[in-house]
Order: sequence, then structure tokens, then C-alpha cells
Amino acid sequence: MSGAPGTVWLVGAGPGDPGLLTARAIELIGRADVILHDRLIPLEALAGAREDAEVIDVGKVGGGEQVPQEETTRLLVERALAGRDVVRLKGGDPFVFGRGGEEAQACRGAGIPFEVVPGITAGVAAPAYAGIPVTQRNVASAVAFVTGHEDPAKPETAIDWPALAGFPGTLVFYMGVRQLGRIAEQLIAGGRAADEPVAVVERGTLPGQRTVRAPLRGIAEAARAAEVRAPAITLVGPVAALADELAWLDDRPLQGRTVAVTRARAQASALAARLRDLGAAVVEAPAIRVEPLEAEVPDLAAYDLVCITSPNGAHELMARVRDARALTGPTIAVIGPGTARALREHGIEADIVPSRSVAEGLLAALAEIPARRALIARAEEARDVLPDGLRARGVEVEVLPLYRTIAEPLGDEARAAALGADYATFTSASSARFLHAAAGTLSGPRLVSIGPATSAAMRELGFEPDVEAADHTPDGLVAALLADASGTVAG
Ligand code: SAH
Repeated sequence: MSGAPGTVWLVGAGPGDPGLLTARAIELIGRADVILHDRLIPLEALAGAREDAEVIDVGKVGGGEQVPQEETTRLLVERALAGRDVVRLKGGDPFVFGRGGEEAQACRGAGIPFEVVPGITAGVAAPAYAGIPVTQRNVASAVAFVTGHEDPAKPETAIDWPALAGFPGTLVFYMGVRQLGRIAEQLIAGGRAADEPVAVVERGTLPGQRTVRAPLRGIAEAARAAEVRAPAITLVGPVAALADELAWLDDRPLQGRTVAVTRARAQASALAARLRDLGAAVVEAPAIRVEPLEAEVPDLAAYDLVCITSPNGAHELMARVRDARALTGPTIAVIGPGTARALREHGIEADIVPSRSVAEGLLAALAEIPARRALIARAEEARDVLPDGLRARGVEVEVLPLYRTIAEPLGDEARAAALGADYATFTSASSARFLHAAAGTLSGPRLVSIGPATSAAMRELGFEPDVEAADHTPDGLVAALLADASGTVAG
């Protein structure tokens, strides 16, 4: 073998909610040459992988066979010895029932440098999302993490069940749903109180998280009745009862709803984050990509009015203006607060922000502004309401197309996820057209439009928006969606 080996990072991806990935995990996912990942990682975790990274799924498919551990270890060692940097991405924490220790030993044995990036383990995160603190003053002063994978009845069991039954604290079982009946039997036989509170948290931190609560003697039956499936964490101890008091997830107004967000990848995150904060499971369907055009910005001193009609327009304009002082002359008008914010990032404060964030609103706001020559910085395919309206007032108008938005094909999974969502949000006419182009239809979710221009584009495609924002901004769109959701029952 020639050359130095790459580094192996044993990285925890957290319990499922993409917001619980660590900053270090995200950074390394973006750097890796090779990513070997388990099944139980957030889908979104891989979004930041390099386009040329080799991504290998070594996880179980459904309940089926996993890539055998030796094969995973072999791949890991082989790729690293070939000089490539490898992220070994595991659900939860790599050193908690993750076989990360064995993989670290294999690296050590092969002379491969490795680092461990802890993740948030499901045994703490799932209960936290269910309102169960694993320790609580005067209630539980110790926690045991236990594998429930083993059949407790088999004689060669590695678990000392009587000792576990007598453990003075919370018992947290991983991988135990199928063995629940026998786990409860063994604990009661070992002296644990049959009426001790138990909670089973299914799909903790993920959309559709559920908690089943029962006393120890009845938990297996309760879980069976509720058809609880893996992944699930089982908590045994008085803290389990705190879920009745502290469950907080359902307080969020969009809990249990899925919302598809269709805007360019780079822009989706702010809207997606806002929706997630409200409890929604967000499906990001980045059906659009922004492609800058080769365009030179003319001498801005020659204009007395510069209009910018989108955040992308602001960024693309400022990417081409070498010296911001070029903007000191003309009046700067933007279409809405989002564009004003984008401009502010470049140190420029807009003079005019209309109260209605549409071209008609901007045109109205400009009625009193004397202008002779105007420059409109915008997308190639925008409507002509603004230039036509200004020209009708006798203004000499030049339109400067700075970028175009182009369709990004959606994979089958993303397509199914987007069309299966409770809501799909559209923040521009092109976002509707492009999702339609990528998915073939808009039929399925309730359709939420940011404003009249977007709604018109949807109607042209043959789809009537179910909700139209009164305030044509992302905040207004969220408010309209919330109002609609509060009037309909979560599915
Ligand atoms: N290394 C992981 C655990 C891997 S073992 C960690 O630290 O979390 C797999 C088990 O973890 C599952 O059988 C289940 O018991 C638990 N688990 C993983 N993700 C879970 C989730 N989102 N909700 C509930 N339990 C989960």
C-alpha cells in the first residue's frame, strides 16, 4: 500500500431529527471522500455531502439483512488505506450500541488514524422529546442503558436480570420492542414492582413519534395493542410517569403535519426552520436552482432609480458591483422585506420597501418618486408589470436579468414525499412551475401560495391554491398556513 491512509471519523448522526445533528457532524459530512452510513440516520444528513463523495448504505433494509459487520469494517479499512477520508455515520451515538468501538479497534489495528464524534443517543433524546427526563432529583439518581435485543430467557444471556431488576434508577432499553413481554417478566421476577411506570417511545424525535404508557405488568400488551414498531426506546422507572405532565411536542401548532417546501436549496432553510419550530415535519423539495447569468452591471450613476425584485436579485447584483458606493446616487427600491434583508447583508439599506410585496405594490409605492431612468435588477423570467408600469409613467426603463431559475429534477423518494405531504408551499410562480415540472402534478397536498402572482401561475397549471397569504412574505405564508391548519384536523 502506498501513501498515507485517510482519516476515519466515527460520527454520531443523532436520533433522527436533523436539527439534532452536531455542527461537527455536518462539517465532516461535507468534507468526506466516502460516507458509510446506517439506515437510522436523518435523510437530510446526507444533503451536505460532496457531490463526488462515495455514499454507501450499509444499514438494514426494513427488517432485512444488514451488510454484515465484517463487510462494513472491511469497506471502512479498505477505503481509508486507499488514502480517502471516511465518515462512518451511525444513528445516535457511535459508542452506544453502535459497534463504534469495534470499528475503532479495526482502525487501530490497521494503523488508520480515527476520531470519534459523539452523537445524541436515542436513549436520552427519545424520552426528552416525550417529556421524560431520564434523571430527576429525588426520583431517579442513576440511569442504565441496556440492550433489549437478547432473549432474556436464554441461559447464556449476558445480562444479569436480577441485578438489573434491583438497579436503583431508570432503565433505558434499546432494541427491545420484540422482547418487551419477556423483559417485563424478568424484571418483575427479579423484584421490580409490577406497577412501576413504563413508557415506550416509538420513532423518537421523528415525524410520527408516539409514546405508549402502562405499568410494567401491562406494557407488553399495551405496546402490542398499539402496534409499536422499531425503532423504540423503553423506559422503566418512575420518571416514565412524568410524560403525562411534561409531554410538550403536541403543544406545537403544526405537530403531526408534513409540509413540502419548494424553493431553491440555498433559500429553503429559513422557511423550513420556521416550519420545523412550529412542529411540522418539513420535506425539502429543492425543485429549483439559481443559475447566475453573464451580465454586466452598467454604470449605476446613470440611473436615479434602481429596483430589485428578489433576494436572489440583490445577491446577484451585489456580486457584480465592485464598489458599493456606486449605489449612493440612485433611489433603491426593493419588492419586500426579504429583498431588503438580502441587500442589508451587503451593507445597503433600501429606500423604498412597499407594504404589499408584489410588483403592483412596488409600482404603487413608486408613484410619488420622480424618476427619469430606472434600472430593474431581476430574474430573466419575471413578469413585466413593473417595467411596463414605469414606462407608462414616462420613465426610461432598462431591465437587467441577472439570473435564471432552472428546474432541478426530483428523485422518486423526494417526489413521493413532496406529493404525500399535508401542505406544499410556493414562494414564487417559478417554484410552482418547477415542482410541477419535477413531480408531474401538484395534486395531493393542500397548496399554499405566497400571493396572487404565484396563485395565477398555479391556476395556469390547472391547480387552485387552497390558501393564499394575505401578506406576501415567507412570514405571511407561514401565518396563512397556520390559520388553515388550525381549522383542519391533523391527519
Ligand atoms: N447508536 C444508537 C443506538 C443503535 S441501536 C444510539 O446511540 O441511539 C438501535 C436502537 O436504538 C433501536 O432499536 C432503538 O431502540 C433505538 N433508537 C434509535 N433511534 C431511535 C429513535 N428515533 N426513537 C426511538 N428509539 C431509537
